[in-house]
Amino acid sequence: MDTFSLTDIKKKNLSDVYHYIYSNPGCSKQAIATALTMSLPTVSQHLSTLLSEELIEKCGQLTSTVGRRAVAYQILATARLSIGIEILPRSIYIVALNLYGKKEIKEQYEVTFQPETAYFKKLGNIVKDFLQKHGYKEEQLLGIGLGIQGLTSPDGTQITYGAISNSTGLSIHDFSDAFSTPCKFLHDSECASNIELWENPELKDAIYISLGYHLGGAIIINGELQSGPTGKSGTFEHMTLVPDGITCYCGKKGCAECYCSANSLLDSSQELEDFFAAKDQGDPSCQKRWEEYLDHLSILINNLHMVLECTIVLGGHVTPYFTNEDIELVRQQVSRRSTFQDDTSYIIPGRCRTDSVSIGAAIPFIKDFLNEIGQ
Ligand SMILES: [Zn+2]
Repeated sequence: MDTFSLTDIKKKNLSDVYHYIYSNPGCSKQAIATALTMSLPTVSQHLSTLLSEELIEKCGQLTSTVGRRAVAYQILATARLSIGIEILPRSIYIVALNLYGKKEIKEQYEVTFQPETAYFKKLGNIVKDFLQKHGYKEEQLLGIGLGIQGLTSPDGTQITYGAISNSTGLSIHDFSDAFSTPCKFLHDSECASNIELWENPELKDAIYISLGYHLGGAIIINGELQSGPTGKSGTFEHMTLVPDGITCYCGKKGCAECYCSANSLLDSSQELEDFFAAKDQGDPSCQKRWEEYLDHLSILINNLHMVLECTIVLGGHVTPYFTNEDIELVRQQVSRRSTFQDDTSYIIPGRCRTDSVSIGAAIPFIKDFLNEIGQ
């Protein structure tokens, strides 16, 4: 039988104190002691540990009509930072998140992806310049996540399927060797579902469809991402939607990627913003493409909901352009297709509307830190 030592109790108490302050910024020592049923001397001891480690700070005094005014505490949100990078074919986005998972900084750099060592060395230099420019120290970093358009090994050290960018087999070491902090690759749709779970913790079972430039997906069971042994769970993009249809980048025909990705809406060199501006101005070709897009999306959603009856979250680059009417239209179309005439209010737009890949690439390091504090 496992025994729970005095040290374990101390660690747990320290973690509980930190988490209470995290969730209740501006709280007093007495409030912590009451909420956690700890003695005041015990709370004092943990507060001084957390203060000396610069994980929390005093933030003024609470108002009181009687006696001494109590000191208020809050966590130091920038005590640690996590870096997330979205790697796109012609550019990258870098974000620095604080311990609340909020963006401190976001920057875009024009840099063309190349599946070779030189690219990752260049990327490493960009990140180092980014850190220096904003006065961040490497010791502050919890980790650097690289969100990529491809599947990754479970430990994030290798790209296991990168047909879009010819990056299969690339190792993180070309990048990570330049840093003392942990670095990992993450599949972009995994990133997007990470941030959705962070923003919407009550989401237990869900299918996440990432309507990015490339289509992606994720299955969430009991609040956890289910990637499968080799990361292929939730790769809805390669489900056949149209037999012998358009050729996909994977080499097969008629994959959902060819009908439900943002790229499937665009002419070559057209940006999403331009597409939706033209559609809203009544461009018949864009309107037709949008109708077909929603139609194909409704087939995909209906099929997925047959596999797993749960909330279906629509995220990714296309989602910010969805109007309430568009969501309603998708719900109606799915309802018409459904054998069971379901109530389709299970289809919801994602909460994170922008930068979901870069933010979602940084979130796992913050989660780990919060889970492991005091350990
Ligand atoms: Zn495919």
